[in-house]
Amino acid sequence: MLSLTHSSVGAAAGKYIPNPVLAFLAGIFLHFVFDKIPHFWPGKANYQGVMLVLDTVATTAFIAFLILYPGIGNRYRVVGGAIGGAFVDLCLVLTPKLNRSKLAGWHSARQTHLRSFRFILNDLVIIAATMLVTFWIPA
Ligand SMILES: [Zn+2]
Repeated sequence: MLSLTHSSVGAAAGKYIPNPVLAFLAGIFLHFVFDKIPHFWPGKANYQGVMLVLDTVATTAFIAFLILYPGIGNRYRVVGGAIGGAFVDLCLVLTPKLNRSKLAGWHSARQTHLRSFRFILNDLVIIAATMLVTFWIPA
């Protein structure tokens, strides 16, 4: 699943969790839960590289926006959850050496990673719903 999706799930959950450290841990836990939802990931290595770069840029921009956006309530908890959601991919996908560890192999193997492009819709629906919760629904 996209890091942006995991990060937005962590942000929405973090809004309702009483402190930033617990929100961070909840973001990590929810990452593994949401990886079980069918989601798209390209099969070809070239497209995987492009998707990884776009996703990393979007996730970083999202977290920066959460830090800087003046109107956000429960900022530290929301940011803690957002970082927790992205943290698993940061460690197990983007960090050299760690991305070849047994844990990284387990992380990648346990995902269904259905190749059908239509499953990108699952990511988009989850992102839209969690953004709604994070920015519009009162805590
Ligand atoms: Zn994952």
